[in-house]
Parts: sequence; structure tokens; C-alpha cells
Amino acid sequence: MPVEQTLSIIKPDATRRNITGEIIARFEKAGLRVVAQKRLTLSTAQAEAFYNVHKARPFFKSLVEFMTSGPVVVQVLEGENAIAKNREVMGATDPAKAAPGTIRKDFAESIEANSVHGSDAPETAKAEIRFFFCDLEIVG
Ligand code: ADP
Ligand code: MG
Repeated sequence: MPVEQTLSIIKPDATRRNITGEIIARFEKAGLRVVAQKRLTLSTAQAEAFYNVHKARPFFKSLVEFMTSGPVVVQVLEGENAIAKNREVMGATDPAKAAPGTIRKDFAESIEANSVHGSDAPETAKAEIRFFFCDLEIVG
């Protein structure tokens, strides 16, 4: 299986509850390695740009407000099949539909405040990593 990198965000509902360590432990136990990480607060313009693909969706404005409501931890995760593996560990978008043992099942507050983001494909992973990190900041 190919070694991949994917962009992960631990969202404001999780930083507020001080559970970033518990979430990172889930990634590490699944064989994903944190090769870059920083904590920051997104501006409205940054959150709008990051979620631009969803700008026509009814939840867009609320999503941007939520994502700017507190700090986030952005990370590059690396490992075999990292993009799909991370999505598996995260669970479905809606915690009510997420499988047992997934991050969203165990930690998400709602379909919006669902604790984590993960890239969904190689092209989006590349663009989302570049959105937050330069090469110097990614250390395998
Ligand atoms: P995922 O994060 O699982 O890839 P999407 O890309 O479809 O899900 O949506 C991006 C984010 O938008 C979700 O993680 C969630 O925070 C929010 N979201 C998605 N669907 C809804 C919804 N129906 N109502 C409110 N927020 C939503
Ligand atoms: Mg998505």
C-alpha cells in the first residue's frame, strides 16, 4: 500500500473540551504518524476559503462560524493508505451514523461540531496540506 499524507483538523469543539490528545492517540494507534502540527485560530476569510467547495450548501455560514469559534489543531498525518485510513478512524460525518469506536461516534457533539476534518482524496489532500503548511514544516 502506498505511503500517503493527509490533512487533519481537530475542530473547535474538541479543543474547547481539551481532548486533542485523546484524538491524536486514535490516529497513532491506527498507524498514522503526525509529521506536522500547529494550533491556530482560523479567520472568517480562511475558513471560507478552506470550505469553498461547500459555499452553496445551506450549512456553509454556520460551518464557518463554528470553525472560527475557537482554536483548531491542523496536522499532516502520514502512513500507508493514510487518506482512507484517517477517514475510517474519523467515522461518518454524522455521529449518529458513525461506526462504534470511531472518533466521531465517541467524541462528536453534532453533525456540524464533529471534532475532526480529514481530506477525502489525493488531490484534496495535496491542496489542503499546502493551504496550511510549507515543506519545511513537514518532518517525517
Ligand atoms: P466530512 O467532514 O465528513 O468530509 P463534508 O465534507 O460533507 O463532511 O462536510 C464538511 C463539514 O461540514 C462536516 O464535517 C461538518 O462539520 C459540516 N456539515 C456537513 N454536513 C452538515 C449538515 N447537514 N449540517 C451541518 N453541518 C454539516
Ligand atoms: Mg469533506
